[in-house]
Amino acid sequence: MQLIKSVQKMKEIRQQLSGKVGFVPTMGALHSGHLSLVKSAQECENIVVSIFVNPTQFGENEDLDSYPRDLDADLQKLKKYKVDYVFFPTSEMMYQKGYRTWVNVEGITNILCGDSRPGHFRGVTTVVNKLVNIIKPDRMYMGLKDFQQITVLETMLRDLNMDTQIVRCPIIRESDGLAMSSRNAYLNSEERKNAVILNQAMRIIQDSAKIGDEAQNHISKMKKMIEDKGGNVDYIEIVSTKDLSKTEKINKDSHIVLAVFMGKTRLIDNLKIF
Ligand code: AMP
Repeated sequence: MQLIKSVQKMKEIRQQLSGKVGFVPTMGALHSGHLSLVKSAQECENIVVSIFVNPTQFGENEDLDSYPRDLDADLQKLKKYKVDYVFFPTSEMMYQKGYRTWVNVEGITNILCGDSRPGHFRGVTTVVNKLVNIIKPDRMYMGLKDFQQITVLETMLRDLNMDTQIVRCPIIRESDGLAMSSRNAYLNSEERKNAVILNQAMRIIQDSAKIGDEAQNHISKMKKMIEDKGGNVDYIEIVSTKDLSKTEKINKDSHIVLAVFMGKTRLIDNLKIF
């Protein structure tokens, strides 16, 4: 496993590779969710993992500075898998002086997480575009944990005629159902205990919802369950799994998406109902 810190070096190495290249973009602080993507990428002859806390996808009052970083621990974890290259560029290298170019997917980036985090998806699409240009992966392995992100990035790859395919990977959860996230480390023990309600509330609706039900009734029930456990709801919506448009009446494509603050920590999760 080789650690590559320079864009130029990464591009040169890529040119020498033969066979399929599988790519796992991450912001580090790796957990079993990230490692499941690496495992899926083992179907490719070459695996590249990037670790880059991308400043342009964080808002001004967000957690860029406090975001957990531990390169040594991440490398130890990745060593156990068949990872060939870890790409670890600096912000200065990715956004050189005079940087002015942005990629923006319209419409589906100003709803849900995009509504609460203006500019977030512009940062995500821009950095992923750059990483894809550098690494030229055949397949990019991404977690359904970030359901809107996958939808946005698939749209970008299609619209810009890019050759990379996204492989959608399932959400990895803690044994009590909480979706794994680097941000779970911010939760105190009380918040951590209560955070289980995000998944529980969605599963209760999954068990009880019927085709034709008013989505709003189920949204209200989830909101109440989460608030009763001290959660501060940023959004809870039921959307089409295909294009994220709002669902009025539950149908076979309905997908629950939510973002909730437990204390100061914003957690996201989602679940397809059927
Ligand atoms: P991040 O480091 O949070 O930017 O995430 C990097 C990649 O890991 C993204 O494709 C995420 O969707 C994915 N990921 C994060 N948490 C999980 C999880 N619990 N299960 C599956 N994939 C995940």
